[in-house]
Amino acid sequence: MQSVKIQRSASLKPKPQDESKLGFGKVFTDHMFTMNYSGEKGWHDPQIVPYESVSLDPAASCLHYGQLIFEGMKAYRTKENKIVMFRPEQNMMRLNTGGERLCIPPIDVDFMVGAIAELVRIEADWVPYSEGTSLYIRPFIFSDEAFLGVHPSGTYRLLVILSPVGSYYAEGLAPIRIHVEDVYVRAVKGGTGYAKAAGNYAASLSSQVAAQKEGFAQVLWLDGVERKYVEEVGAMNVFFVIEDEIVTPELGGSILAGITRASVIELLKHWGMNVTERRVSIGELEDAYKAGELKEAFGTGTAAVISPIGELNRGGNAMKLSDGKIGSISQKLYDELTGIQRCEKPDPFGWVYSVI
Ligand SMILES: *Cc1c(COP(=O)(O)O)cnc(C)c1O
Repeated sequence: MQSVKIQRSASLKPKPQDESKLGFGKVFTDHMFTMNYSGEKGWHDPQIVPYESVSLDPAASCLHYGQLIFEGMKAYRTKENKIVMFRPEQNMMRLNTGGERLCIPPIDVDFMVGAIAELVRIEADWVPYSEGTSLYIRPFIFSDEAFLGVHPSGTYRLLVILSPVGSYYAEGLAPIRIHVEDVYVRAVKGGTGYAKAAGNYAASLSSQVAAQKEGFAQVLWLDGVERKYVEEVGAMNVFFVIEDEIVTPELGGSILAGITRASVIELLKHWGMNVTERRVSIGELEDAYKAGELKEAFGTGTAAVISPIGELNRGGNAMKLSDGKIGSISQKLYDELTGIQRCEKPDPFGWVYSVI
């Protein structure tokens, strides 16, 4: 195993004083992790260095053909002042799954989890203290060979940057309004929907902007072929409570396999609840709504953990859910997951990774 060379910054930045104003992804810490790939050496030269700009040849492949993949994970400060991460090996495995689709060479999962933990230890003072805050961890890989032919790059860079982030719910867990997107699609089976590939997010922006103009927080994507089956919400997976069934769209290549999603499914099963992964159409949801059987809907993702959905709006027809309140299953899952993530509840599945 290679060892990580550490070069400490000579001038540390002041830490944000007011943690209620952190927001998301605006402030970055003093150091970052970098590692390079070449055909001859494989992944090599892992280093933790002062945070700095990246210099690229204008012909660098990522700028033209988008071989760029990323991850999103968090480190949390517990009440005992320890620092932990949540299932980090899952994020590194997903980086390899998506990387394979984009011809990006795989990384060593255990090595990268260790390297990220090392970076977080060096930046421990940047992990915020207030309730609901965390240190967001953004690993990413991009191709940087200078050439204009369309073929996989011969060289890559992997970086990890860190950003202290505020509570997603400044005013407490609040239901969001969702616009059902029926013009554009996010992904199709056989495409790159299951990868956290940069281009997927570029393709989602116009829908996101249009929905936000109408006062919606996010869009709900439908499948790319029949425009009928529900896929996911923005950067969250989605669950619906229909009578006593909790249903989430099955993974089929077009949906991102969220780690929060997988954890929610495991928890629900552990509680003996009826959770199913299957195709669910927007028509089925509308019928269930009319019959009074659509009890709850919520999104799942690292940023929000659980995001209760208060309204699903398709072409002006609003389905209002849970009387604008937080559904009981959403609340229970939120409490349990955030409790495990902050070591305030037992961790029967071994999800918590101790950094300090
Ligand atoms: C990251 C992401 C999710 C959520 O994944 P988590 O691992 O739970 O954070 C869901 N959908 C999309 C499109 C995403 O990018």
